Amino acid sequence: MKKGSLAPNLKLSLPPPDEVSLSKFLTESGTFKDGDLLVNRDGVRIVSQSEVETPSLVQPSDNQLSLADFDAVRVIGKGNGGIVRLVQHKWTGQFFALKVIQMNIEESVRRHIAQELKINQSSKCPNIVICYQCFYDNGTISIILEYMDGGSLTDLLKKVNMIPEPYLAVICKQVLKGLWYLHHEKHVIHRDLKPSNLLINHRGEVKITDFGVSAILASTSDAALSFVGTYKYMAPERISADRYGYRSDIWSLGIVLLECATGEFPYLSPQPDGWINVYELMETIVNEPAPRAPSDLYSPEFCSFISACVQKDPNDRLSTNELMAHPFITKYDNLDIELAMYFTSAGPSLATL
Ligand code: ATP
Ligand code: MG
Repeated sequence: MKKGSLAPNLKLSLPPPDEVSLSKFLTESGTFKDGDLLVNRDGVRIVSQSEVETPSLVQPSDNQLSLADFDAVRVIGKGNGGIVRLVQHKWTGQFFALKVIQMNIEESVRRHIAQELKINQSSKCPNIVICYQCFYDNGTISIILEYMDGGSLTDLLKKVNMIPEPYLAVICKQVLKGLWYLHHEKHVIHRDLKPSNLLINHRGEVKITDFGVSAILASTSDAALSFVGTYKYMAPERISADRYGYRSDIWSLGIVLLECATGEFPYLSPQPDGWINVYELMETIVNEPAPRAPSDLYSPEFCSFISACVQKDPNDRLSTNELMAHPFITKYDNLDIELAMYFTSAGPSLATL
């Protein structure tokens, strides 16, 4: 895409005030309200009932970001349901990531997504990717996110093949802080913890992204349901039972760490070219014993940490608090493990590629 132009499906200008009438506001596909939450092409806002009855207040406030304020730089990633672009704020020069999800979703799903976006926008934790603004327009959800210039752990793994234990412990500690925040402050389950949802930057920071929204889209989209990636890091109880809790994220964390340490997804597939059949994968996760870290290749602390996460019975898994105090994490506390250097020496940041 040419620098300076945004995708044609993104609305670049805000509607004139007279276009925003109350009837449009309540009935048209571009806007919907759920409780005190309003989502339309101007973004997500928390409104009071009196504001809803006054259409002119749909106008964005002065400090609110608009899609028109950004220049598209390049595509930096593609996921199952959307595309992620590096964009630059026209006036400040600051980089952001713009995630655009295009989907024909039902009203009930949109409602659910709106709730998740609200939690996203209200999250303030150094280990959670900041979600600045969300827009919904005619089937397209656009989310302006903090730009993480090192990409995801999937991108890092492609460059380094496997991550040595000391770096993994420091990465893990940051993920645990983000997870602790989601579980204990926000009372939400991430539901889609995987290497591509753990982002890194040149400062050595690791942040969790995509909680809620991608899992909702995955659980409601036929394409996602037939996609192996939707299940790879999913806890057995999520596959086999309706009830699951915070500790399903702990299972996913354990699988992610094991993959980062070994460079391979821990469940061996029957086919030489990896997991193709979704049902075979689900059956394996539910029926086979939990994977473990090979004790001849990894430290006892690492093996014990993995087994504290990857337990088939969620009650046997440790919580984020307990894991934070685990010897695998505390062992490197006083050693100066330089993640910033490790991330930057792995390869150039995405913005300069
Ligand atoms: P899925 O759609 O199956 O969940 P995914 O997580 O890879 O897969 P996206 O969330 O769309 O899909 O992200 C695609 C890629 O875009 C990521 O792997 C990452 O490399 C990049 N990316 C996403 N968000 C950001 C961000 N805030 N900053 C920098 N890069 C990002
Ligand atoms: Mg993602």
